[in-house]
Order: sequence, then C-alpha cells, then structure tokens
Amino acid sequence: MSTTRYWINGQHRDEADAVIPVTDHGLLYGDGVFEGIRFYQRQPFYRDAHLERLWDSAQSIRLKIPNSRAQLSEVIDTLVKQFPEPEGYIRILVTRGRGPLGIDPNECGTPNVILIVDQLNMLDETTRQSGIRTIIASTRRIPSDSLDSRIKSLNYLNQILARMEAQQAGVDEAILLNHSGYISEASVENLFIVKQGMLLTPPATDGALDGITRRVVMQLATHRSIPVSEKSLTPYDLYTADECFLTGTGAELIPVREVDGRLIGKPGPVFHTLLGAFLEETGLHQQMARRI
Ligand code: PMP
Repeated sequence: MSTTRYWINGQHRDEADAVIPVTDHGLLYGDGVFEGIRFYQRQPFYRDAHLERLWDSAQSIRLKIPNSRAQLSEVIDTLVKQFPEPEGYIRILVTRGRGPLGIDPNECGTPNVILIVDQLNMLDETTRQSGIRTIIASTRRIPSDSLDSRIKSLNYLNQILARMEAQQAGVDEAILLNHSGYISEASVENLFIVKQGMLLTPPATDGALDGITRRVVMQLATHRSIPVSEKSLTPYDLYTADECFLTGTGAELIPVREVDGRLIGKPGPVFHTLLGAFLEETGLHQQMARRI
C-alpha cells in the first residue's frame, strides 16, 4: 500500500482525489514555484529556510501564496507527525492557479497550494563509497539575467535536457555551465570542489540555486576550520580538483569520481569530514555509522 500523503488547499486527499484542474497555469505554462524538504526522525530539516526560499521565489514572480508562513509550517509539522515513517520528503507546490488559455497571470484564480509527502530512498552506500560519474552537458543553465537561478520555478526543462545527456552518455549526472562557460551546478544539486584544502563552490549568481544543503555544508565546513569560498569555476577547475561532490535535499552529499572521463578519484578526507558532520546535523549519524 502506498504511504504517499496529499494535501491540497487545506484538505487531506486520497491519491485518486489529489487532482487540480488541467487549466492550472502551473501545468499550462510551468507558472509556479516549489520546494522540497526532507525530514529526519520526524523533524523537518531546515523547514524555515525552505519556506523563506519558497516565499522569495513566489515574491520574485509576483505570486501571492494564499497561506501564511506560520500556517504552512503547521501543516508541514502535522503531515510529518502523521506520516507512517520517521524519514521522508515533502514537496510543496504553489501554482498560479486555474485560468483561461493564454499566459496572462491576472486572469488566474487563487493559487493552488499542494503538499505531497513521500518516502525518499537514501543514497545507496556503494555509490557513497565510490562516487558517481558525470559529464558537463552541452545544455546550459538559463542565463540569470533572463530567469534568476535562485527562483525555484516549476520549469525544469533545461535540467531535464541535461540529465538526458548524462543518460545518453551512460553516466549518472550532468553538470551545467552558464552562458559565460563557468560551472553553475549539477541538474538538481549544487557543486563543490576541494583544491589544496580549500572548499570552493560557484556563487549562486553564476547560475546556481541558492541551495539549503549548500548553505548547511558551508557552515559545517567553517565550524570545522575548513576554509570555504564562493568562486567562479571552470571545467579545468573540476578536472584538476582534489575532490568534488554534489549537495541537495534529495542527494544529501554525493561524491563525484569522474567528470568528462577525467578521474578525480574516490571520496576524499574533506568529503568524509563533511558527510559525518552532515549526518550528525540530521541526527542520523548513529544509524549511518553502522553502514559507512
Ligand atoms: N539546484 C537545483 C536546480 C535544485 O533543484 C536543487 C534541489 N532543490 C538544488 C540545487 C539543491 O538545493 P537544496 O539543497 O536546497 O535542495
């Protein structure tokens, strides 16, 4: 039996009733924003930071979320409490709402607020030990002067096209460049490298989402006296990195062992330190320690 839970505009729904009209502009035009939050041991992980980013995304596309932040926080907490598993993932969507054909957002009714709670598989330990293979995709991130990469919008087409390139090349994940040829991020994760003991990640203004996991990892590094800096990175920086890894709500921390056929190698000491620190932060370190 499915454990997935649905909540739409204030009501808990069964899967068969978890529906919105096909004339919603979220479907017709990708007009809307979303968030993904994990929960560990029945605690939503950085819930407030995710909600703040949801509100910022909505604000920048002039979408008014019909609920207050306090209301949504409460709904999230209740759904987490009711979920049959202590660990899982919450997807929050806010769409422009139902409207006539034609892009005009002013013609739309009230935005639809949708929450989906589901299980999310932990990364298998073989991958966490050995790392993933990646390519730099030919699909580029949409330039931030066209659509700011900090907006978590309902349109992920260029990330999807990049992921398809990775699949075509027989590797696990794609890394996207921005229009100037600098690294932005992976399809749905932020990217870090380690060079001579320094932890480096592209600034969000190079076309990355301002990832919550990215922020947490930067903080954890600082607390452990690992120097960390936001810096524009080129493919050369990746090919010659001592370590490389990706971060995201779903991914947590994933080591990268290969980029475009250049071997970076097994997860290194900085990755292991930060993964340990991250698991401590989630409260899962005791369970995971037995598996790593
Ligand atoms: N970049 C993109 C494009 C993403 O979709 C995600 C996943 N939300 C991330 C980076 C990682 O961000 P976070 O750590 O907030 O999940």
